[in-house]
Amino acid sequence: MKCIIIGGVAGGATTAARLRRNAESAEILMIERGPDISYANCGLPYYIGGIIPERDRLFVQTPESFERTFGIQVRTRTEAIAIDRLAHTVTLKDLSSGEQKVESYDKLVLSPGAEPVRPPIPGINQDGIFTLRSVAETDAIKQFIETHSPRKAVIVGAGFIGLEMAENLHALGLQVTIVEMADQVMSVVDYEMASEVHQHLKTKHVEFYLRDGVASFGTNGSRITVALKSGRRFDADLVVLSIGVRPESRLAKESGIDIGQTGGIKVNSYLATNDPDIYAVGDAIEFPHPISGIPTITYLAGPANKQGRIAADNIAFGNTRTYGGAIATAIAKVFDITVASTGLPEKVLKKNGMPYKCVITHSSSHAGYYPDARPMTIKTIFEPDTGRLLGAQIVGYEGVDKRIDLFASILRTGGTVEDLGEIEHAYAPPYSSAKDPVNIAGFVAENVLTGKSRHMQWHELTGCNFADLHLVDVRTPEEYALGTIEGAVNIPIYELRSRLSELPTSETIVLFCGVGLRAYMAERILIQHGFTDVYNLSGGYKTYELATQRQGNEDIFEKDIIWKDDNIYQAVPSEPVTPSAGGTNGSTVKAAVAVETLRVDASGLQCPGPIMKLKQEMDKVPAGTQLEELATDPGFARDVESWCRMTGNTLLSLDESAGRVKALIRKNANDARPSGQAQHGPASGNDTRTGTTLVVFSDSLDRALATFVIANGAAASGKTVTLFFTFWGLSILRKNDKEKVHKDVMGRMFGWMLPRGTRQLGLSKINFAGMGPRMMRARMKSQNVASLEQMIESAQQAGVRIVACQMSMDIMGIKREELIDGVEVGGVATYLEHASESQVNLFV
Ligand code: FAD
Repeated sequence: MKCIIIGGVAGGATTAARLRRNAESAEILMIERGPDISYANCGLPYYIGGIIPERDRLFVQTPESFERTFGIQVRTRTEAIAIDRLAHTVTLKDLSSGEQKVESYDKLVLSPGAEPVRPPIPGINQDGIFTLRSVAETDAIKQFIETHSPRKAVIVGAGFIGLEMAENLHALGLQVTIVEMADQVMSVVDYEMASEVHQHLKTKHVEFYLRDGVASFGTNGSRITVALKSGRRFDADLVVLSIGVRPESRLAKESGIDIGQTGGIKVNSYLATNDPDIYAVGDAIEFPHPISGIPTITYLAGPANKQGRIAADNIAFGNTRTYGGAIATAIAKVFDITVASTGLPEKVLKKNGMPYKCVITHSSSHAGYYPDARPMTIKTIFEPDTGRLLGAQIVGYEGVDKRIDLFASILRTGGTVEDLGEIEHAYAPPYSSAKDPVNIAGFVAENVLTGKSRHMQWHELTGCNFADLHLVDVRTPEEYALGTIEGAVNIPIYELRSRLSELPTSETIVLFCGVGLRAYMAERILIQHGFTDVYNLSGGYKTYELATQRQGNEDIFEKDIIWKDDNIYQAVPSEPVTPSAGGTNGSTVKAAVAVETLRVDASGLQCPGPIMKLKQEMDKVPAGTQLEELATDPGFARDVESWCRMTGNTLLSLDESAGRVKALIRKNANDARPSGQAQHGPASGNDTRTGTTLVVFSDSLDRALATFVIANGAAASGKTVTLFFTFWGLSILRKNDKEKVHKDVMGRMFGWMLPRGTRQLGLSKINFAGMGPRMMRARMKSQNVASLEQMIESAQQAGVRIVACQMSMDIMGIKREELIDGVEVGGVATYLEHASESQVNLFV
């Protein structure tokens, strides 16, 4: 028997090797278009990033070792260009010499893989724009980095390969920007799971644009200009396209082999095509999804390798082994977190009208009392009637791989959520808990399946009319104060039984807590007291907050600066956030080392554990003590800032890396006010000035917005805030409607030239004859940012003093009646008095 195999990497090389083991006397010829065979495509991003240091390690086999070991003829740099099925021949082209040769076969295997999509974007073929599939492309990227020392990379497409490239280029010190057309990264997981990835990418200072695409590439000197569909433009030195792949099925199609609706080669369960002598495996084949039955292509190495074995067995022994299809079990490392999925995501089930239910659970990677337990979010998707598992997704720091494999094993064998609960796992505190996160997911899903609990998803809640619901936050008052869902009342779980009369029996009640456990207990209390329409918010406030907050991370490099250490930093040059900020070398910490520092380890505790622990420890120590808390709950980074603001303690430094959050906090005396944050330099211990004063000189919309954002933020942290509006700044305070006032000629001229009120303000940059402010307002609205008018109202309600400069009003002929209500008119003495009481004085 003579067998030709087209494609010499994952599927092709596996088929060839297995076939040799099955049929020692077979003549096997493996054809590969590229120079290499049997290499680790999956390792390519890590070789670029230097994690895999030696190029040789990418090669599992070389053509020579393959020939030597298996007795298989390997022809590299050779392309199969035609198949004559009647004659049983393949035409091969030597890509070095151009020479063509016809080879006959008894059996043919196609494993041509998938090619990266390269859409016809203007300018896409210029230097510095790459795709990544082969070792040759990897070499080209690596060489470009070595010779051009790029500073900024743009990744187009945020799938697995895109994010792996983002991480690896970031590790090389490049600024990384990702552009993604969808509203989320990693399309294989659902939105709320991706939102955890978004928040993590933000902590790594990766810029990313969602719902945006590249409109064109241009040049700016030696750099590449990337123009986005939204109108943004920026320069980059290196672009990696990871938009997606499509099956290389052209050769098969041209020879009359059936192609399916996805564009992949159609195969039967023996992996044979419509020609019984031609088999196909790997990224190029289409096969019915085992759960949905929908024709699907799986672009993964595992299935390609396993299919190769089956095809080789069927070729050697006749069609005896069947392929059951792949459920697309996949995993990726994204900086410090791991994202994994198996089966079908909710969005695919929804799109195809398939019934499903989901539960979201948050667990720890191992027993919380053993150091370094890390949070893990699991989404379990199952059939509502039978409990059959349909899909699972996990985002976490540790142990995600083994959990997703457990889900995949149950799913692959048609198991149910009860089976998840019954998995017997190996347990000792460093590895798991007595109830593994997978068991917990199974228990929670089983409760929903049997009607013990009803879950409402975060998107179902946001889609509800809140007036029709009674939203109850059953966390502690401290947690409630740190942030809750708008409109929720706080009835801590421990008070619920005594406060049942406060709850309506005839309305829908949605209960929530941090992650869902306390809300479940509350749900059971209510149900057993006769309440019937009760829901538990799946995944609790944690999931709700992650999914409803801002997802993109745009324009973070706009004001980047190169600091004296040659690193690139954002924001103000005098305040670089050094890698050691929050460690032991930063200037803030140097100022603090003389003070005794108490260390608290809250790692493994989930929200609100770290904050509660902080409070307990702070209650025990005198003012002036510094406390360094270590936590592994990423939410602690945000919570500790809010907590310090609320309690008047000072957050001296905050460091977040490798999934650990380290916060250094100084306890202030009871009446002390918060005195700023670490990156603003060490707080001076004796400073009693607590005010914030802003002199507003400009009349542009963006500066007015900045003014009121700062004013409202300062007021929220308990500072007394005074805004002193002078000269052009007075326009911000003018009423939008014209007032009948008596003015002299100059006053009338000024009145005519100056914007009347907030609605007429232009932008200080990109005003575009009024288009800019309209775009800015539309964008603020779409991003749920309060309007300038709302911010002014909030500032007044928060007690911010708004003072109009008398002298400027006189010069410009502006009358008191023309200004909005609540404005004081004062002179320079008023300003100076407030300024002397203020710790922060800004000129806008
Ligand atoms: P390939 O391995 O791509 O091999 C196809 C070969 O066929 C190619 O070398 C091509 O040159 C050759 N060929 C095509 N047409 C012809 C022709 N006419 N004549 C001669 N030769 C031809 N999967 C995972 O599961 N996990 C991962 O972490 C992962 N990471 C990846 C990272 C990168 C950067 C890439 C590119 C892929 C990754 N994959 C990963 C996907 C995985 O590599 C593929 O699913 C797998 O290689 C598919 O195997 P295949 O045999 O179908 O195709």
